[in-house]
Amino acid sequence: MFKLPPLNYKLDELEPYISRNTMEFHYLKHHQTYIDNLNKLIAGTEFENMALPEIVKNTAGKPEYTAIFNNAAQTWNHTFFWNSMRPNGGGKPQGHLLEEITRSFGSYENFRKEFKDAALAQFGSGWAWLVRTDKEHLAIMKTLNADNPLAHDLEAVLTIDVWEHAYYLDYQNRRGDFIEAFLEHLVDWKE
Ligand code: MN
Repeated sequence: MFKLPPLNYKLDELEPYISRNTMEFHYLKHHQTYIDNLNKLIAGTEFENMALPEIVKNTAGKPEYTAIFNNAAQTWNHTFFWNSMRPNGGGKPQGHLLEEITRSFGSYENFRKEFKDAALAQFGSGWAWLVRTDKEHLAIMKTLNADNPLAHDLEAVLTIDVWEHAYYLDYQNRRGDFIEAFLEHLVDWKE
């Protein structure tokens, strides 16, 4: 049985950029629902005792497992998103990660523009990601609905949820303002 993972911060600690109200819906209700659905769908199946990333990888691209994939991937994606943020985060990374970003995108500013463009351009519901494509390179990826880097054998470094439920209560249709707040004030570069 999967459980809602604890957050590294309190529900109101990402304010004013993400409100407690959004966290109560997004984390306590949306994320919990994906987990509840996943637990129901895998009960008594070959996936019941499998680790979450393995469930995602083993159901990706298989039409007969679409419901399990969607709920497993959304369970994983949301945990990754919560862990991509911290109170008083945001801005430029330092050290090795900055070197990797500079090598892969030319500069932090170019990375920032590409990431924002991808998050803005994801039509409908989805995610934007920073992924590691090999030992030395990073890339930007955007995915539709529940799809994620795991399903494509890529290592995720950072993500932003751009489903409307992630920002609508705080930003309504202004997805760009939400992405800016994420980049400037919330990103946890894990340094
Ligand atoms: Mn979400």
